[in-house]
Amino acid sequence: MASYPTTHAKIETVVDTPWFIDNAFKPSETTEFIALHDPATNNLVTRVPQSTDAEMRAAVDSAQRAFPAWWATSVLHRQQLMFRLVALIRENWDRLAANITLEQGKTLADAKGDVLRGLQVAEAACGAPELLKGEVLEVAKDMETRTYKEPLGVVAAICPFNFPAMIPLWSLPVATIAGNTMILKPSERDPGAAMIIAELCQKAGFPDGVVNVIHGAKQTVNFILDEPRIKAVSFVGSNQAGEYVFARGSANGKRVQANLGAKNHAAVLPDCNKNNFIKSVVGAAFGAAGQRCMALSTVVFVGGTKDWLPELVDNAKTLQVNGGFEADADLGPVISPQSKARIEELIASAEDEGAKIVLDGRGFKPANEDYAKGNWVGPTIITEVTPKMRCYREEIFGPVLLCLNVATLDEAIDLINDNEYGNGVAIFTSSGPTAESFRRKIEAGQVGINVPIPVPLPMFSFTGNKRSVAGGGATTFYGRPGISFYTQQKTVTAKWAESDAISTRAEVAMPTQQ
Ligand code: NAD
Repeated sequence: MASYPTTHAKIETVVDTPWFIDNAFKPSETTEFIALHDPATNNLVTRVPQSTDAEMRAAVDSAQRAFPAWWATSVLHRQQLMFRLVALIRENWDRLAANITLEQGKTLADAKGDVLRGLQVAEAACGAPELLKGEVLEVAKDMETRTYKEPLGVVAAICPFNFPAMIPLWSLPVATIAGNTMILKPSERDPGAAMIIAELCQKAGFPDGVVNVIHGAKQTVNFILDEPRIKAVSFVGSNQAGEYVFARGSANGKRVQANLGAKNHAAVLPDCNKNNFIKSVVGAAFGAAGQRCMALSTVVFVGGTKDWLPELVDNAKTLQVNGGFEADADLGPVISPQSKARIEELIASAEDEGAKIVLDGRGFKPANEDYAKGNWVGPTIITEVTPKMRCYREEIFGPVLLCLNVATLDEAIDLINDNEYGNGVAIFTSSGPTAESFRRKIEAGQVGINVPIPVPLPMFSFTGNKRSVAGGGATTFYGRPGISFYTQQKTVTAKWAESDAISTRAEVAMPTQQ
């Protein structure tokens, strides 16, 4: 018998989520809890504490205490611990995925992908001995300059609900292998995977205090932003929260990186492989019930490709919407009743503003009565959309695909570039020169050529732009830029010259080392 959930059955004895400090799980002293419901049933899964001020301060005390010794360990030692964490995540892959399916709602296969994409960041972080190397140059006779990448101290990560394993793992391995200690604040809507990751850090041998987990919503975020001992904050989530986090954290002198919302387009050209286009867009629009920041939520049909719409709709109709543990499920529910209501309201607004609903997922319910109270929205396709409509201007974050028609690729590029978001974009074409021209002219920061969700693997970095990031995206998550975010450079210039002993005059002019 697996020691983790394998169904959406009601949990008889609900256990409150603990917090994590000094490598131990503790019950919170709080009186304020956030109820976490299984999105497929709305059964209570756990209660997530709003960590008390004393608990949050204690977590920072712990991380601060752990920092000097952690930094003093050799990078090879930290690498060994990371190797162990990687192995443990692999061993606990099914357990992590099951927790994600229960708390977040996505299908088990999709949840496994969530874990793997985070695991890959941890694997890449094992390259730290190479990534943390500085530079050295003999800048003048008897003189050299060298750089060191030193950790910042205590850093924090604030995570969204939609990738409960991947996004904590965008930060934790990179921050800790660089010698920082970390305060992790998972989403209050599904912290279970982060709690398992914390347990695995402890099992891997991370010393006490290197990773601590606190919980809650805005109060916890404000604590992190105002606590002077926290030097850097990685945030992933909505524009509403992230722009605030960036402003307040930056005003308090912290490094802040913030990845925000999106509206990702697919431009489809008549010369593309139609089968690849249809399968790719249906998968990337409706997978994870559209709750991915890189979901392809908008198709721009160029020229005659608009005639392919019926085939696209037929394909979307074949998707099975069901509880994430069900073997046939292609997509599960959305995260909450509020989210379902918001998505349905945006679909209605499209209709009111003159668009046409050609596939309507409102009111969908799986056949199984156990799921009668879940947050279901079936795949929805809306055509005759214009850029002025609310459904186009706002991120829907649900299984809803918008369709627009244009006559030429240049029109498609102008339309896409006019959108304020710049997370991802895809072009479907069999022409290399067309794809190359699109790549140059398009503004979005992550471009897929016949690839629907071009989330870069961790040897690269996540490079959304425009309103999909705060602060102009000056620092990006994971890869070499991730290491740069979590380290500060120290530059040392040294001279060892025998002539120093015999020089007779002080040099008062600015040294130029010529
Ligand atoms: P969210 O903004 O509601 O929550 C994210 C985090 O911010 C949570 O930890 C939450 O506790 C906190 N928070 C929420 N409201 C807050 C407020 N008013 N003040 C301060 N903190 C607040 O986001 P979500 O709904 O959990 O996640 C979905 C969003 O995240 C979507 O917009 C999606 O596009 C975005 N996202 C972006 C990326 C990316 O890399 N660009 C990746 C994943 C998700």
